[in-house]
Amino acid sequence: MEKIAMKTPLVEMDGDEMTRILWKMIKEELILPFVDLKTEYYDLGLAKRNETNDQITVESAQATKKYGVAVKCATITPNAARVKEYNLKEMWKSPNGTIRAILDGTVFRAPIIVKGIEPNVRTWKKPITIARHAYGDVYKSVEMKVPGPGKAELVFTGRDGAEMRETIQEFQGPGVLQGMHNLNSSIESFARSCFSYALDTKQDLWFATKDTISKKYDHTFKDIMQEIYDAEYADKFREAGITYFYTLIDDAVARVMKSEGGYIWACKNYDGDVMSDMISSAFGSLAMMTSVLVSPDGCYEYEAAHGTVQRHYYKHLNGEETSTNSVATIFAWSGALRKRGELDGLADLAAFADRLEAATISTIEEGKMTKDLALITTLPNVTVLNSEGFIKAVREKLETGEQA
Ligand code: NAP
Ligand code: MG
Repeated sequence: MEKIAMKTPLVEMDGDEMTRILWKMIKEELILPFVDLKTEYYDLGLAKRNETNDQITVESAQATKKYGVAVKCATITPNAARVKEYNLKEMWKSPNGTIRAILDGTVFRAPIIVKGIEPNVRTWKKPITIARHAYGDVYKSVEMKVPGPGKAELVFTGRDGAEMRETIQEFQGPGVLQGMHNLNSSIESFARSCFSYALDTKQDLWFATKDTISKKYDHTFKDIMQEIYDAEYADKFREAGITYFYTLIDDAVARVMKSEGGYIWACKNYDGDVMSDMISSAFGSLAMMTSVLVSPDGCYEYEAAHGTVQRHYYKHLNGEETSTNSVATIFAWSGALRKRGELDGLADLAAFADRLEAATISTIEEGKMTKDLALITTLPNVTVLNSEGFIKAVREKLETGEQA
């Protein structure tokens, strides 16, 4: 069989622990036998990040800007324990944070739907994709504990010295205070990433805030989204047959719970943090969530939403068998290959991505799955496979070509 050709390389970002093991297996079993794979390889494993003073992460993000599509393995975000474990020079920052800052992108998370892993919400038939604005608000706030009576004010001093001043509260006793901010430029990038991704995936876009209460702060989010939509996207949405829908956050939550799914739900930072955990757990499993970072100028970085599955890695190092779910990492590869195929006009590369996803899904739907899914499936007569066994079962499906 002739291998499928590529034009432009994918930016390949390797990672850590159990997902690094899966990464190699996926490439060897599911990609290399079928695709004449072209990648520009960046090792974002913690040892290499430490060795290069984290320059490798910056370079991988710059390469993503250059080529447009990256696929990333999960990576360790160091904490004190990791600094010791890996004898790090510094507590390097989260690679995802570094890459997101360079690409100025928004992360879209969507569940992979298979028969037999049923969402807890009965009406959900299609994936709900969460887009989280990942800048500012309470995540960059300044807080104070007020010790006793006194006046709290909000003061802005312009570069020219002009002052704006509002009384927050005349405290009669102790209390708490918080000051937070956001930037129009960041909200604009978020808006463009959301509208582009909606067009790209042909899904409606929902956005919600509490603008009835927050008449300046949240209202600015609402206004910027609407202005950019009207000026740059309304016609394209009409042509694509999709809609942009704004509502209040509490109304959005109520509608989501009664919906069928199949749309993108754009959220402010805090709402996105909370709602993405609700959506992923209600769809069944963190191991079945995909994640893609989309920059406002149309660069894509695909990955699994879960981490490096450390506990399984230590079992693996001990020579014990693991049953780690590789589905989200497989879908990171298929997402990146499909996007590369679309951008380069390679229909067979995009078709291969479809086949890889269909083979993965039908393997599970036939009852062959890893332990995490076996524990929650409604399918009878399940065969629990180990990490490698599952990937080999998908390979077999790909080769025989008979997919559901
Ligand atoms: P995790 O790797 O997502 O794993 C947490 C637990 O969830 C696992 O112990 C496992 O449960 C289950 N799980 C997650 N993915 C699974 C899979 N593919 N197959 C089967 N079970 C799966 O989160 P963590 O243990 O909190 O974090 C480990 C490391 O990952 C940390 O160093 C963190 O910094 C990093 N991290 C990276 C990213 C990223 O690169 N995007 C995201 C999150 C975390 P059981 O143990 O019960 O089987
Ligand atoms: Mg969270």
